Order: sequence, then structure tokens, then C-alpha cells
Amino acid sequence: MAQAPTVLITGFAGFIGTNLVHELSTDFRVVGIDNFGVAAYAEHYVHRLKSLGAQPSETEPSFSGQVYPDNVYYRADVLDLPSLSRIVEKEQPQVIVHLAALTGVRQSFENPATYIATNITGTVNVFEVAKQLGIKHLLYASSSSVYGQQSGTVFAENDLTHSPLSVYGATKLADELMAHTYYNTFGLSSTGFRFFTVYGPWNRPDMAAYLFLDKMKRQEPITLFHGGKMVRDFTYVGDVVQALKRYASGLLAGEAEAKGAEVFNIGGGHSVFVEELVAELERASGYAAIIEYAVHQAGDMTATGADTSHLESRINYRPDTSLPDGIALMVKWFKGN
Ligand code: NAD
Repeated sequence: MAQAPTVLITGFAGFIGTNLVHELSTDFRVVGIDNFGVAAYAEHYVHRLKSLGAQPSETEPSFSGQVYPDNVYYRADVLDLPSLSRIVEKEQPQVIVHLAALTGVRQSFENPATYIATNITGTVNVFEVAKQLGIKHLLYASSSSVYGQQSGTVFAENDLTHSPLSVYGATKLADELMAHTYYNTFGLSSTGFRFFTVYGPWNRPDMAAYLFLDKMKRQEPITLFHGGKMVRDFTYVGDVVQALKRYASGLLAGEAEAKGAEVFNIGGGHSVFVEELVAELERASGYAAIIEYAVHQAGDMTATGADTSHLESRINYRPDTSLPDGIALMVKWFKGN
């Protein structure tokens, strides 16, 4: 039997990373890299790794799991270029999906230097490794935050992106610029995915859907900034990982080709007020929200919406999980954990 292709995922123990490992492991051998370095995630890393039947070793940098025994996971930092090179050289992935990053929009103002190091230098290290070892398929996470200040509320990939509102958004935009540099100078093709407010099982604890649910369960008040009138294109994580899988599989099958330094939106395609998210969480969970309204916060975009036609035309797939369905799946996971 032919061996499954190997895909390397950086940030595998994160929210999207964990979901992606589960989605890909049926068709791929996954090599995961994470530094488990975000203190606020400590408990969440444990739950996510438990779902993989895996536990980091105290003494060894790599470990595998019982759920997908062919996979191998590394405790490693994308800022450590020699380690990264060694892992990639040893594991010989056909595809890299680079998700590792520091991710909080508001937190990026508190610690800009660490965001710049992890999100820009860390990404350049991944580009370097791909260049040195001739990895043809490099996929990386960008963000809807690159759109920043826009006149419209539905964003397409060819909209001008020169005005991000946060340090986080600026680091993601810098990654997209680096992608062009590596293509123009070294011919390294890559694909960036601009994710729009992802939610679902193993959600990040700092993101609205999880934060609200957790506080609602404890009967603590939740804060809705911008008077609850912020608009978000919420995207179910199952749709995100499905899109990444189809894209990677298409590349490997030779059905699609990475074209230079391309970017794609991955969004749910229907924007709602954050107040509607709260109503949906109440409906699905049976918890009642205690709402406090607050003014707009610096760095927050007032509205995001994804035009996903570019993605659809390339992989014949459009994220289609409705907010009620996606929230029901998230609440089921939340209550089961
Ligand atoms: P996450 O914070 O849950 O996952 C990121 C993972 O990267 C964590 O497990 C963390 O430990 C790891 N990491 C951080 N620094 C590292 C380093 N130096 N070396 C190795 N690993 C490191 O975030 P997520 O929500 O899963 O997001 C994944 C990617 O998608 C990120 O690049 C993020 O910017 C992007 N993104 C996410 C969303 C969203 O709504 N979740 C939206 C837009 C973009």
C-alpha cells in the first residue's frame, strides 16, 4: 500500500491546529510542531492533546499519540530555525501548513515585540526551511485582520490592504508581503488563507464564542463592545479544515497548482451582529447571558465579511455550516468537556 503523504502543521496544538490534525489524519501522516508556550492555554493544550491520545514527553522532543499512531508531534519553536530545519529534513513533508502564531488582536498592543518576533520572524523561518529543502506546497494562516479600515463590509482578496488596525493585523500583512518576496526572488510558491473569526470545538479561550459561553455558564456578565453592534463573519472550524484539506489534496493530486503568492478568504459568508451570536449561544446552551454594553475598542474592526468566490472557484467548495448548526456543535463539545 502506498504510504500516506506527510503534512507538517506548525501550531498543531492550537484551536485550528487540533481540528486540522483530526481532519487530515485519515488521509495524511501528520507531523505537528508546537511550543506549547501560551500560558493561558495550559489547560486547553492538555484537552486537545488528550483528544489525540498524546502526551508530550518530559525528556524527548518528539512523541506520538494513540489515536493516530503514525503521526509524530514535536515540542519545538518556529523561532528556532536549526530545530525547524532538522525536523523538516528528517520528516520530509510534502506539504507544510503554518498556523503557529500569537493570535490575540487586543493583546498584540500589550506585547508588540513578541507578536512581531513570532508572527513575522517565525513565518520567515518557515519560508526559509521550505526554500532550503525544496518544499513545494506551503500553506500559511493569514487573517481577515489584514483588511483593516475598509469602506465596504464584504472583503475580496483584491481589495487594497494597506491599513490594518492592529499590530496583529500588521504582522499578518507582513507575512503576505514576505510571501511575495520569496516568490519573486526564489520562486517559492505559497498560499495564504485569510480566516474570518473561526469558532467551534477546541475554541481559543480568548475568543468571543468560547469566552461568552464560559461566562454564561458561570452566570458572569459578558461585555459587548461597540454597543453589541460589531459585525462578524463567523466561520465554523469544520469548514475551515475541510477547505484546507481539499486545497492540499488538490495540490498533491496535481489537480490544482499554487500560483505565486496567492491568498484566499475563508469565511462563513454570512455576517451577523455579535448580539446574534449571543442569542444563538443562549438558544443552544440553555444558559442566559448577562450583557454589559461597552464602547468601541481601539484596534477592533467594526465589521468583517468574506467574499469566498475565489476559494469556491479554485476548490469547488464554499463554507456552508450555518451559525445555528455550528454553534450547536460547539455547545455539544463544550458541555462534553
Ligand atoms: P491558537 O492560538 O489556538 O494556535 C496557535 C498555536 O501556535 C498555539 O498552539 C501556540 O502554542 C502555537 N505557537 C505560538 N507561538 C509558537 C512558536 N513560537 N513556535 C511554535 N508554536 C507556537 O490560534 P488559532 O485560532 O488556532 O489560529 C491558528 C492560525 O490562524 C494563526 O496563525 C492565527 O493567526 C490564524 N487565524 C485564526 C483566526 C481565528 O479566528 N481563530 C482568524 C484569523 C487567523
